[in-house]
Amino acid sequence: AGTTATADAAAAGGALENLDTSNTLGAAGSNTSQWVLGPVVNTYIRGRLLGKGGFAKCFEMTNAKTQRVYAGKIIAKSTVTKMRARQKLRSEIQIHASLRHPHVVQFEHFFEDDEYVYILLELCDAQTMMELVKRRKRLTEPEARYFMVQILDALEYMHRRCVIHRDIKLGNVFLTRDLQVKIGDFGLAAKLEYDHERKKTICGTPNYIAPEVLSGKNGHSYEVDVWSVGVVLYTMLIGKPPFETTDVKTTYKRIKANIYTFPTNVSISRAARELIVSTLNATPEQRPRLSDIWHSEFMQGPVPRCLPRSAMESEPTAA
Ligand code: ADP
Repeated sequence: AGTTATADAAAAGGALENLDTSNTLGAAGSNTSQWVLGPVVNTYIRGRLLGKGGFAKCFEMTNAKTQRVYAGKIIAKSTVTKMRARQKLRSEIQIHASLRHPHVVQFEHFFEDDEYVYILLELCDAQTMMELVKRRKRLTEPEARYFMVQILDALEYMHRRCVIHRDIKLGNVFLTRDLQVKIGDFGLAAKLEYDHERKKTICGTPNYIAPEVLSGKNGHSYEVDVWSVGVVLYTMLIGKPPFETTDVKTTYKRIKANIYTFPTNVSISRAARELIVSTLNATPEQRPRLSDIWHSEFMQGPVPRCLPRSAMESEPTAA
């Protein structure tokens, strides 16, 4: 198959205009894809399936020349025909491509052919914190701090750039093989255009949804990410999300009424509990800011410099 140029991350916004034109050629359907820019041809070889999402299938993709391996999200254009879905994908690419931080999944390249959009991301080959916590049941407080440090660092960076992630959850905290955190999935993220802007709607349902998003009255802003940090911390330490029930309606009722408990069979420190209670405040303005979380008593405790690989399976002996 012939191939023609599309674009890289820097031109992501423009290139996506091609989403509904069909004037690019590609190697769709085969297990290689090519990205051509001027005289440079990049050939990627598709490897194993990493996972499936709402629209995307994610494969290991190896650059044939450099042998570097990426996570390649492949999205069939036929599944994003609606204006809204296209706009959402465009926004995800634009926001993600604009970020560069050690604890954010690096957006590497973006290209497309007739049938597919390809997003090449930094490969995170130790799954996400969701699988980690499931395997471990729950984490120790020093481990939770270790992950919090990196999550907070990434969130501070995003908020400084006026980006709200809006879907911080264990499943979007990706892990590298040396257990470094990489925040990913900007599918629900928003960029604020001016100070004090309030977002009224989210196109999609965040997993750890904040009460102000459910009520929808005064809009929402950066505080929704602080709320999710509270849910993440609770889940790391207790082993299950605070508002989870078997049906969504009941869960939403509990979120709105701020009903959750600390199970008596799990012991957590007073400092951890205080931080969770303050971040899960129903009133967004009363939640701590990210800088307040850094200064909380819980965050002053010992933080491991790194975690051993064995932490994937069992509690580290000297964490
Ligand atoms: P979702 O639609 O569930 O939010 P995505 O479409 O972003 O998920 O990705 C689908 C799946 O691909 C994920 O659940 C994960 O298993 C895998 N995946 C996504 N990004 C990466 C990455 N950077 N490294 C490794 N695996 C990834």
